[in-house]
Formats: sequence, structure tokens, C-alpha cells
Amino acid sequence: RTAKRDRVGVVLWTADTVSTHRADLRQLTELRTGIRSGHLRLHYQPQVCARTREIHGFEALVRWQHPQRGELPPGVFLPDAERSDVILELTDWVLAEAIHQSAVWHQGGADMPVSVNLPAAYLAQERAVPTVLALLALEQLPARLLTLELTETAVLARPDEAAARLTSMRAAGIRVSIDDFGTGYTSLGLLPELPIDELKIDRSFVARMLDSQARATIIHSIIAIARSLDLTVVAEGIEDEPTAAALAAAGVDLLQGYHLGRPAPAPEFTQNSGDQALQTPLVRS
Ligand code: C2E
Ligand code: MG
Ligand code: MG
Ligand code: MG
Repeated sequence: RTAKRDRVGVVLWTADTVSTHRADLRQLTELRTGIRSGHLRLHYQPQVCARTREIHGFEALVRWQHPQRGELPPGVFLPDAERSDVILELTDWVLAEAIHQSAVWHQGGADMPVSVNLPAAYLAQERAVPTVLALLALEQLPARLLTLELTETAVLARPDEAAARLTSMRAAGIRVSIDDFGTGYTSLGLLPELPIDELKIDRSFVARMLDSQARATIIHSIIAIARSLDLTVVAEGIEDEPTAAALAAAGVDLLQGYHLGRPAPAPEFTQNSGDQALQTPLVRS
């Protein structure tokens, strides 16, 4: 936003600011309608085992199929949604859809964990835990097949409340992951206290780790600490094979990124194959 502040701190709304603001409100109203009209879609990006390169599970990523503007990525509409309660309705939809999809895979014989991004505002609700548990029960999905990804900020804002809710989720068998790890303010010394199962190393460390000794060192430190705390380590944003190989050698458990597979509509798994064969190939060279 381009609102200007005068010397006493009063926000001066320029004509330009006001029209931008109106556009945001219109888009937010449209988004609410879009959610209710079934215009959201989930894409699924594979997370592959670093050792075997087999698909382990997927991260669900939301898209908005806008009637006029086409498919919109979350960067276009999530920031506005997160400043309002539309984010709660959106997250209800995402959770229901992702849990349903993982249940479909589970019933077809493929145990494919699904990771869902959970905003801080959602976890701040008293109904967060009962709602997620009710969705798992409804779809008869084992809780271990759901991972909730939270940012460091979400876990650390109102730490007692968030920690209590995450502890309840974990007690039910749901897995908890810290997304974009390394970009927030979590001191490594705090990690043993957090009710979590997984760290996702942020893309900014993964990208160019091969030509930055500093980034490589950070990654090795994160992996060493995660090991000692028995946490799963995921690396996101892997765009080439040398980076994938280096992360696997460094001890990362799961690899995610365009090199391993792009986000795409839910793939189908063949009915009888115990080897989790895909009908559509996911790994592109
Ligand atoms: P994130 O959770 O860190 O998700 C990873 C993002 O990186 C995704 O962007 C994904 O498409 C992108 N990505 C994956 N591999 C690569 C790669 O190799 N290179 C590059 N450059 N990018 C890669 P996307 O789908 O646009 O989502 C952006 C962010 O929006 C997500 O970051 C997450 O914070 C948020 N988001 C996405 N879906 C949801 C959702 O359903 N609910 C909520 N609350 N947030 C979501
Ligand atoms: Mg994520
Ligand atoms: Mg991430
Ligand atoms: Mg990220």
C-alpha cells in the first residue's frame, strides 16, 4: 500500500491508495464468493524420499480458478485473505479437500501423507483442533497421514496457546512441520521445546547452496540439530540435480521442488500396485 504518513503520523490516503484499497476489497468479496462457488483448486507437489527418490507424499497448494482472470497463484490473493477472516473459510476448504484427497489415495491402497499450510489465525481459533479431528474422522483418514505446516511466526505468536493446540494435534497423531525454516526468529536453542515433527528448510537457503559456503553451512547445522531432536528434514525449492544430490548427501530426508515435480492436480495411483506406481509420471527430467 502506498499510503503516506505526514509528520504527525496521520495516514494520507491518496486517490491512488483509495482505489487500490477498493480493488483489494472487491477481490476479497470475490474470493469469498469464489470459495462458496467451488472455484478453488488444490495442486499437489510431490515430496520424494532423498535416498530412493520414491514419492513419499504431497504438499497441497491452493489456486483460485477465477472465472475471468484464469488460474491465480496464492501470492495474488492470500495476503489480502490473511488480513481478514476470509482466510478461515479458505483454510476450512483446503483442509477438507486435502484430507478428502489423501483419504481417496488411502482407500486406493496408497498411503500418501498430505501437508497443508495452516495459517496462524486458524490455529488461534478454539475450534482449530476439534475441526481438524472431525474432518479426519469424517474421511476416515489416519491422523498420521496429515501434516500441518506452520511458519515460525505462527508457532511463536502466542506461544502457550499455539503450543497447547499443536500438542493436542500431535497427541491425536497429526504431524507438525515448521515451514520456511530459517527465515524467522526461532533460536535453535528453542527448537527442543517446540511440539513439532519436521523442519522444512526454506528455499532461500536451498537455492544456490552450491555456490554459497555460508548457505551450505546453515543447512548442515539445521540438519545436525534436526537429527539430534529426531525431526524429519525436508528441503523445498530444489530446482536441479546437483542441489538434490548435495542435500541427499547432507542427510535431508525428503526433497521437494520443481526438479522433483511441479505442483499439479491430484495424481491417481494404480489400484493394486504395492509399489505406489503412478499412472502419470511425476518426476520430469
Ligand atoms: P510454501 O508453503 O513455502 O510452498 C512452496 C511454494 O514454493 C509453492 O508456491 C510452490 O509452488 C513453490 N515451489 C515449489 N518448488 C519450487 C521450486 O523448485 N522453485 C521455486 N521457485 N518455487 C517452488 P505457491 O503454490 O505459489 O505458494 C506460495 C505460498 O503460498 C506457500 O509457500 C504458502 O505459504 C502459501 N500457500 C499455498 N497454498 C496455501 C494454502 O492452501 N493455504 C495457505 N494458508 N497458504 C498457502
Ligand atoms: Mg508450505
Ligand atoms: Mg515452504
Ligand atoms: Mg516457502
